[in-house]
Amino acid sequence: MRRKLVAGNWKMHGSLDFNAGLVGRLRDGIGEVACDVFVCPPFPYLAQLQQLLAGSEIGLGAQNASEQQQGAFTGEVSLAMLRDFGCRYVLLGHSERRTLYGESDALVAAKFEAALAAGLVPVLCVGETLAEREAGLTETVVFRQLRAVFERVSVKAMAAALLAYEPVWAIGTGVTATPVQAQAVHAAIRGFVGAGDAAVAEGVRILYGGSVKPQNAEELFGQPDIDGGLIGGAALVADDFLAICRAAN
Ligand code: 13P
Repeated sequence: MRRKLVAGNWKMHGSLDFNAGLVGRLRDGIGEVACDVFVCPPFPYLAQLQQLLAGSEIGLGAQNASEQQQGAFTGEVSLAMLRDFGCRYVLLGHSERRTLYGESDALVAAKFEAALAAGLVPVLCVGETLAEREAGLTETVVFRQLRAVFERVSVKAMAAALLAYEPVWAIGTGVTATPVQAQAVHAAIRGFVGAGDAAVAEGVRILYGGSVKPQNAEELFGQPDIDGGLIGGAALVADDFLAICRAAN
């Protein structure tokens, strides 16, 4: 039985004041949540969040990292730096990184390998655009994104990672994949991993992301291959995020 997990991706939102208020409310309500939970603030707030979350059940993650260890890479943040600030998780290959900042499958794969080597839990994000879905290419795209990673690490390595299926057309649009649509892709992803290692596929948690709200979370999380969610907008509203977490109970 896979334990459910809900993660908040704050994207480029927050401030010192906002974060303190949000985390205070999350800490007040987390006692009623049974699943694993972590939040991913922007880099400058990791130190603040490490303090705000000290002693709580809520884990800390980052939204991205460099594949390089150190050096002349202006503007980049290393995995070791994330560890210094108490990060356990790191999102990699989010569609906004892929589409807005040109991150290739190969770069994301290099980051994934580096994250495992650094002892962090990488959250590999995959998903198709609307045009790709309409062209019937959903599995082609998602499998290509997965294959790039398995060219660098063994399928067994996925046992120490998380997967997130985020259809690009459902991110921040208010359009959610239906539970049936999402479940179909989650099952396909698990099948792809399972072709390499059945036990790893059975154990790996696959999160759904894209306009998850308190109103649709329970049905999504009730699907057999959906093991929780990666939440954007609703993660910035304490009551909504807590309600989504409780939907995973
Ligand atoms: P929304 O929940 O705002 O659609 O964002 C989803 C997402 O991209 C999480 O990583």
